[in-house]
Amino acid sequence: CDYRCTYCMAEEMTFLPRHEVMSLEECLRVASIFVGLGVNKLRITGGEPLVRKDMMWLIERLGVLPGLDNLVLTTNGSQLDRFATPLRAAGVKRINISLDTLRADRFQSITRIGDLNKVLSGSDAARAAGFKRTKLNTVMMRGVNDDEFVDLVSFAIDNELDISFIEEMPLGEIHGRSNTFISSEETRALLAQRYELIPSTENSGGPARYWRIPGRESRIGFISPHSHNFCDTCNRVRITAKGELYPCLGQNDASNLLPILRSGNDDAVRQAIVDSMGIKPFGHD
Ligand code: SAM
Ligand code: SF4
Repeated sequence: CDYRCTYCMAEEMTFLPRHEVMSLEECLRVASIFVGLGVNKLRITGGEPLVRKDMMWLIERLGVLPGLDNLVLTTNGSQLDRFATPLRAAGVKRINISLDTLRADRFQSITRIGDLNKVLSGSDAARAAGFKRTKLNTVMMRGVNDDEFVDLVSFAIDNELDISFIEEMPLGEIHGRSNTFISSEETRALLAQRYELIPSTENSGGPARYWRIPGRESRIGFISPHSHNFCDTCNRVRITAKGELYPCLGQNDASNLLPILRSGNDDAVRQAIVDSMGIKPFGHD
């Protein structure tokens, strides 16, 4: 990744040696096997997908996989001004952009490196390229960005964007994580002082729960891993760059697909995927 967001990565990262990371060809193979098994939606995320060398090679091929109806991408937006048009041309249906603040100095302190203007121009480029209902992802942090939640919703409405607020998860080995947790409930109550929020039954198969504002297009989502147990309706799994298949992000159980992929036996990969669905949990423990 080209950023070092405080809640996600340590400032000094040691990245994996190349041979431990799936090649783009291996990513395409594993995606094709999933799609062959009936998966019809694929989200490319990271790390930052758009800083991976030759990423468009993979996206262009995923975009034409028969049976894959919904190719989507989550990005920090830093490279979107140059990639929005090729992504659209390659068949990416929708983009999520991470944005925790609209203040340049604050943006720089959260991401440690990032330039807010690049992300805002990336968001504009996505709209100009024809992407609809691009979604902002905002990690809620007490004392860091909680004074901007109403402004972020207004920004989303003004720019025809959706927005999801995410409860901070204790992911990875982050040193000095401070006590910044805010629940979705608290943020929803805060937003309700300004906007009428109507619960929506929309469900993307993932962890977000949506609310609508009467007369507005923007959807307001909440991803609440702490305060809500959404596992029973989650149908997602994740493949890491190392080729590990996680049936749930909140659990440590994973299957290592990389050696099976590298053995060249696609049937064995298919079987390992089918087997790991059996350990997809029904709920948080
Ligand atoms: N680099 C891309 C981006 O930032 O959108 C894609 C990967 S990033 C890990 C995906 C999402 O996870 C981002 O919206 C980010 O804000 C969120 N995220 C990262 N660390 C998190 C944490 N500790 N708790 C909750 N969300 C987190
Ligand atoms: Fe990079 Fe995304 Fe993590 Fe920020 S949240 S450090 S942009 S992967």
